[in-house]
Order: sequence, then structure tokens, then C-alpha cells
Amino acid sequence: MTVASALALCLPALSARGDSPRTDARLLLAHVLGRERAWLLAHDDSRLSARQSERFRQACARRAAGTPVAYIIGRAGFFGREFAVDERVLIPRPETERLVEEALAYLRGRHAAAVLDVGTGSGAIACTIAAEDPDAAVEGTDTSAPALAVARRNAERLGVRARCRFLRAEIARAPAARRYDLVIANLPYVPSGALPALPDPTAYEPRAALDGGPDGLRAYRKLLAVAGNLLRSDSLLLMEAAPPTAAALAALTAAALPDAAVDVRSDYSGMERYVRARLRG
Ligand code: GLN
Repeated sequence: MTVASALALCLPALSARGDSPRTDARLLLAHVLGRERAWLLAHDDSRLSARQSERFRQACARRAAGTPVAYIIGRAGFFGREFAVDERVLIPRPETERLVEEALAYLRGRHAAAVLDVGTGSGAIACTIAAEDPDAAVEGTDTSAPALAVARRNAERLGVRARCRFLRAEIARAPAARRYDLVIANLPYVPSGALPALPDPTAYEPRAALDGGPDGLRAYRKLLAVAGNLLRSDSLLLMEAAPPTAAALAALTAAALPDAAVDVRSDYSGMERYVRARLRG
């Protein structure tokens, strides 16, 4: 089988699953062949070994059954870097890049900032901040020990391990009796009634990373109950939320942090997505 015929063969099955079957097919084949996607373009006639054909067939079958491409190839892009991901963690989303941009804008010009990423998952937020702000000290917490193993691996791969600490912790418990310049969180925020069902790719992701309880705000309530103890004057709290819940989260935040200026920001598609609370210095 050649590269061209392998790609053509899997398209019908992948088309039934997602909106980008050609891209998915190329990502899967490049992964199986250990090549860049660009290599495929110039090697239509290259032949796959029997083993490669079989591995590609299996990868396509997993994708056709709904498994997200990122889990099959074991990586996902975020903020221009590659992160290792697997079924232990949520796949980083493009909308979270905007949250990180807000964080970086705030950190610019602040030296040796202490940053806490609550619910760090793959470590995408924590590692990106550490990589973009070379004197920030970042702590990432998660209730999932398996997720923290992925986060540590990513910090290692990206060369920021020395400035990232990952700790298992419940949301409501501060990792230590200390305060941070920035607390950032992309906690589970999908209202339980809106959780995806198979074969939606999101349904393959850890429920605990998505399920925000009846109104999607359960995890944020826990964070807000302790937020006052994590922040100092002039600190920033940044949270990502589901658009229909962002206004309610802003109201909860204003009640929990009466001294903060709270506002809601929109994502690139214009949906209310982020809540920011700036403590007054
Ligand atoms: N944005 C994710 C989704 O829509 C949810 C992420 C989260 O719950 N923090 O699938």
C-alpha cells in the first residue's frame, strides 16, 4: 500500500466522524510513519510496510470510533508548543490560549512572580507560563495524580521543570500557606446535564476534568471559598468558564472577593468565557 492509497482508503470511515477527515488522516499516517505531515505531500508513492499498514489501520479504526486524534498520536499543540496528552488529561483547547495571554500580559514587568495553576491537568497553562515568563515560579495542583504525571512530563520536555512544582491537592486546600501574584484556573465547568455522550470526542476525556456539577460552577465555588487566602493585594485571579455561566461566576467572584475589580472577557468567537478579578493594591 502507498501513502496515497492509505490516505484514500481511510477517508470514508473518518468522514463519518469529524469535520477534518483529511487532516486527521494525515496526522495519523505521519504519526505511524514517524514523519512530519509535510513529508507525506512529497511522498505519495512511498510504500508502507505491512506493520505500518496495520498500525495505520488500527489508528483509523480508533478515530472512526470517536477517539480524539490527540490521544491517538499522544500530543496536542498549545500556544505554539507541543504537549504530551493521553486519556489521563483533558486535551488543551485553543480558547485557553486567550486565558494564558491575559496571564502573560499581567505578568509582563513583574519579577519572579509566584503563579498558581489550579486544576493543571496536562500542565498546558503552567508550563506555557513558565516557558513564556522565564523568571516566574509556577505551582500546578490537581486532584488527579495520573494527570500530574503528565504535567511533570510536559514540564520536563519543555525544559521548565526547575520552575514548576506539581502537587496533588483538593481545590479547596491551598498547597501551602502562601499567596500568589496570579491564580489561574481552567476548572471543570461543563454543567452535568450538558456533558457529552459517546461518540463525541469530548466524551473520551476524563469526566472529572469536565463535570462542573449541576450549574457548572461547583469547582469554582470551592476555589472562591479559599481564593482570598491565596491572593495578595494587587494579585490577579483568572478563570475560564462556560459562556452561559460566565456572568454567574463573575457575581460569585465579586461576592467572594469584595475588594476586587471583577470583569468578564470574551473569547475569540465573541463568547463570554473568562472572569478576571484584580485585587486592589
Ligand atoms: N472547554 C471545554 C469543553 O468545552 C471544557 C473545559 C472545562 O471544563 N474546563 O469541552
